Parts: sequence; C-alpha cells; structure tokens
Amino acid sequence: MTSEVQSLRSVDLHIHTQFSDGKHSLEEAYRAAQIKGLKYVAVTDHYSEFASLPKRMSKSDLGGYLESLGRVPAFKGLEVEIMEDGSVSMSTKTGNDFDVIVGGLHAVHGIRFSRDLTPILDAKGFVDDVRVALIKAMESRCLDVLAHVTWLPPSLRSRVRDVVDAEWIASVIEAASDFGVAIELNGRWRVPNDDWVKRCVHHGVQLSLGSDAHTLQEIGNTGHGVRLLTDLQVPKDLIYLPHNMTL
Ligand SMILES: [Zn+2]
Ligand SMILES: [Zn+2]
Repeated sequence: MTSEVQSLRSVDLHIHTQFSDGKHSLEEAYRAAQIKGLKYVAVTDHYSEFASLPKRMSKSDLGGYLESLGRVPAFKGLEVEIMEDGSVSMSTKTGNDFDVIVGGLHAVHGIRFSRDLTPILDAKGFVDDVRVALIKAMESRCLDVLAHVTWLPPSLRSRVRDVVDAEWIASVIEAASDFGVAIELNGRWRVPNDDWVKRCVHHGVQLSLGSDAHTLQEIGNTGHGVRLLTDLQVPKDLIYLPHNMTL
C-alpha cells in the first residue's frame, strides 16, 4: 500500500452508534477504528431537532451524546436529517457544538430510500425533487458534508445513470461550490461515481470519505472513495477534513 493510499484509508467521517441506529456503543466504535488504524474519525449519529423521527436522536439526547463523544478523541459529528422539503432539521446553534455536520436525505414523497419498494412511476419527477431538496439543504449553510448524494430507493438504483442526468449533477455541484459543502464518497452505498469526482475536482469542491458504518465490521469501509480518489489523483487539499485540516 502506498503512503498516499494509507493516509486516505485513515479517514472515516461517517459512523453510527447505538445513539441512533448503529449496532455498537460509541466506545466500541472508537476502539474498532483505532484497531483498524484510522486517524481521522467522526462519529455522526442521526439527528432530527424539529421533527420527531424513529432512530434519530432528538435535542434531549444531545447532552449524553456530547458527553460520550468527549471521552474519545474523535471528531464530534451529526448526520442531520434533510426533510423532503429541503429544510435541515437542526438549528445553527446546535451545529456550533460539533466539528462536522453531515446532511442526509432519506425519504422523498414519503418513500424511504432504504428499503421501500413502492413503484415510482415518475422517476424523473422523483429525482428532481431529490435535487431540489439537496440544494435547498445546502443553502441553509448548516452543512459541512452532503451524504450519499445519488443514493435512491431500490427501484431506482439500477437507473441512476439514466435518471440523474448531467444537468442534475451540475446544479448540485454548483450549490456545493457556492455554499462550501463537501460531497461525500459513501462506502456503504458506493455513491457517487467517478464522473462526480472529476466534476468536483474541476469546480474545487471538496470530497469527504465516509463508511456510513452501522456495524463494527463496516467501520473504515471507505474503499469505494479511496479507489476513486487514487485513480483520479485528486489533490490532497480537496480531501475534506473538519476545521480545514489537511491530510
Ligand atoms: Zn444517511
Ligand atoms: Zn449515515
């Protein structure tokens, strides 16, 4: 392994624990990350401040979460819910207590992306509403990283290249550039693809590495992103780390 690959493999900025829907405690997650040689680790449990959602922390959970995060030298993070109207379910004040805020959209038209098999008749209309929500969320200036950008419900996944067209991609990357949001290379869903990385580099948009781990085994599974970053020789200053750190 070259030293460049090694340094990329030491980053995982998207990890869940039992504070939301992860299978393990925060301490176990951190220990696993250490054993795997990770140096830049962010714990980013799901959070929704304004809407009460299943498997999401609410405001009253934040005290205990921050206290636990204070016991490990990991970046303090949240994966905040992007609602389907594009609003971000978190106040700016809450964001100030964290090192990294990842925004995740998980449902549109009431269809959950994780496992909802409801047929989507108007695929183009659906993905356009996804695009509008993602852009509006970035406009809030609450987000550091946009998670799993082209992740879609199961019935649309095989059609990503068809329904997510060049214009769609260009408008999302333009918003990321305007509002200083990094685009995540998500290890769990292996999105987005090489085309995104090339366009992000062209527009000077940073890329973030995250496994989106929910189990100890998945921590550090950032291979999809590491491969793209190495193959495309992405400069180090375009790899996102909290507080403008560089690898
Ligand atoms: Zn997510
Ligand atoms: Zn996640």
